[in-house]
Order: sequence, then structure tokens, then C-alpha cells
Amino acid sequence: SSSTTPIKATLFPGDGIGPEIAESVKQVPFPNPHHGFVAKVDKVCSFMVVIQVFTAADVAIDWDEHYVSTEVDPRTNSFLTWESLQSVLDNKVGLKGPMATPIGKGHRSLNLTLRKELNLYANVRPCYSLPGYKTRYDDVDLITIRENTEGEYSGLEHQVVKGVVESIKIITRKASMRVAEYAFLYAKTHGRKKVSAIHKANIMQKTDGLFLQCCDEVAEKYPEIEYEKVVIDNCCMMLVKNPALFDVLVMPNLYGDIISDLCAGLVGGLGLTPSCNIGEDGIALAEAVHGSAPDIAGKNLANPTALLLSGVMMLRHLKLNKQAEQIHSAIINTIAEGKYRTADLGGTSTTTEFTKAICDHL
Ligand code: NAD
Repeated sequence: SSSTTPIKATLFPGDGIGPEIAESVKQVPFPNPHHGFVAKVDKVCSFMVVIQVFTAADVAIDWDEHYVSTEVDPRTNSFLTWESLQSVLDNKVGLKGPMATPIGKGHRSLNLTLRKELNLYANVRPCYSLPGYKTRYDDVDLITIRENTEGEYSGLEHQVVKGVVESIKIITRKASMRVAEYAFLYAKTHGRKKVSAIHKANIMQKTDGLFLQCCDEVAEKYPEIEYEKVVIDNCCMMLVKNPALFDVLVMPNLYGDIISDLCAGLVGGLGLTPSCNIGEDGIALAEAVHGSAPDIAGKNLANPTALLLSGVMMLRHLKLNKQAEQIHSAIINTIAEGKYRTADLGGTSTTTEFTKAICDHL
């Protein structure tokens, strides 16, 4: 699992708190099997130093950094350049900070562009209670898998006549089968017992009906995995009453967007929850669930946990499990210890102090 050749990965620091927390990801060192542990927590920690630390650590990530442009690239019709998209296609793996989407400016959302252009068809979000950080629930351990390319987010909205607008929800057999197959395979390969398909097929009979039909078909191929269908409103009620009822949840785009944030709330909020976008041809683009948090941007207050844990998901995808576990434990232990916590977790630490504590744990 270790290699001395750097693994190339795309890094989108993103907007707002993104660059601050991306810096944390670069600063968390990988354990060096030959020279003990190397920690680099200097804020001026440069790109080169990171490469050196990672290389010395026997697991080197060569970050290919891409920033959101200030002009629309006509080739992508978005502020993301063609080169940025190509970088992910080439590297097949990346880590992304939040990207701010200006409302009503008439160009494509950056996140939507990434999902569509890179065919990132599934968004996987693990949500589990962090040991040592008390919330209302102690026993959350679930995975939401969201269809990421269609549904209400197909971008097909128009005005019919003045005062009447229309939004078109697209559900295809292709995308539904793809995400259902991913969900069941995920359950099987991760030792999960149950998959719940979340829907509103009683009202949206054709669209959600097709989605469910695809889940039914895939479920038949996995008799060892328990399968159930839960109506979205009932699902919300059950989640807040007893989240332990759920294991893996698979759902269309809009429901997934909402339910996954609800689940983040169950375990302590947006600062903690990672995610990974899965695309065809083995592409994985990990990203924090939260947005650019303009209210705290530039104040060194952001919790980098969500992006760090997304980085851990990326390492697991690269089968660098040992390194992933080490970083994961360092984060968990820092939070559990309670000495250094950011404001969103009720603490007073800055991003830098919290990051340093994680490095010390490593
Ligand atoms: P947000 O997630 O940025 O912020 C919601 C609240 O959570 C804020 O109070 C913020 O301070 C807090 N928060 C978020 N991340 C945090 C962290 N790491 N540490 C501590 N506190 C944190 O949501 P928003 O305000 O609705 O959106 C702001 C911008 O981000 C918008 O432009 C939106 O389009 C964009 N956005 C991007 C993504 C993405 O790139 N995946 C996701 C959501 C929102």
C-alpha cells in the first residue's frame, strides 16, 4: 500500500473558508515509517514543503492545485476551467473545498458543473457519532448515498407565462440503476446489513416509481442485504426519533441533499461531515459537505474536520488504509480529548490550533 512515487491528486481549495482548511489538509503529515513522525504546522507551509513531508513519509500526495477562475471559461460555460476538469479526469482522484454559488447570475453552479462534466453520479456521506463529542444521539452510524446528476437538479427551469414557472424533474433508468448498484455494492463491501431506498413514489408515481423499481431490481441480486422502502417524510421522522434504525440510505438527488444535511445535524453539524463523489471510470472526488461559510471566512475559525475526513475517504479510496486510519484516529482523539475544539463544537480554538493538536496526536 505504500509507494515512493507521488500519487497525483487534484486539490480545489475552493472559496471562503476553503483555502484555510485546505491548508490544514496539506499540513497534516503522513507518518514516516523511517524517521518517526514529521509534523508541519507552519501557516507558511508551502507547496514544496508538503511534497517533501509527504515524500519523506513514504506516501506522497502530489497536489495539483486548481482555483476557481474569475472569468467564465466558454469551454465549460462556468468559472471552472477546462484544465481543472481535465486534471480530475487525468488524476482520477481529488479533494475539493466548498465553492460559492452566486444566486441568479445566469451561469452554471460550480458544483453542478463538476458533477455533470465529471459524471459524478453518487455522493457518499458517512455520518457517525464521534466518540467523546456528545450530541443528542450516541448511536448514529449511517451512510447516505445520493444520486448526484439528475432529479430536480437537472437545471431545466423556465417561465411558462408571467407568474408561472416550471421545473422539470428527470429520472432515468440508467442513473437510478447506477446509484442503486453502487449502494448495494457499497453495503456488501463495507459489511453493512441493510439498504433503505428513500422515495415519494406515492405522489411522484412515475419518477420515484422508476427509481424504486431500479432499487428493487438491484436488491434482488443481493439477498444477503436487507432491503426496505421508506417514504421521505416518514424517513425524516424516523431519523430524528431513532437514527439507529438506518444503515445505508439510497435516494434521488433532492432528497439526498436534504437528508444528508439532516444526518450531519444528528452528529454535530456541517464542520464534521465528509463526503466523496463517485464517478464513472473509478473517479473519486472527496469534499466536505459544508459550504464556504462566508460568515466566518478569513477569521481562522473554521473546523477543518469535514475536509480532513474527506481526505481520509480519499486515502481509503486509494487503498492507503493504514495512513487513513492514523489520520482518522488523530482527528477523533483530538476532538475526544476536548482540549482543542473549534467554536462550532463549543470550543475556543482557532483552525491553526486545532490543526496543530491533530498533528501532535499523529
Ligand atoms: P455553509 O455550509 O457555508 O454555512 C452554514 C453554516 O455552517 C454557517 O453558519 C457556517 O459558518 C457554518 N459552517 C459551515 N462549515 C463550517 C466549518 N467547516 N466550520 C465551522 N462552521 C461551519 O452554507 P451556506 O451559508 O448556505 O452557503 C454558503 C455558500 O457556500 C453558498 O454560496 C453556497 O452556494 C455554497 N455551498 C457550497 C457547497 C459545496 O461546494 N459543496 C455546499 C453548500 C453550500
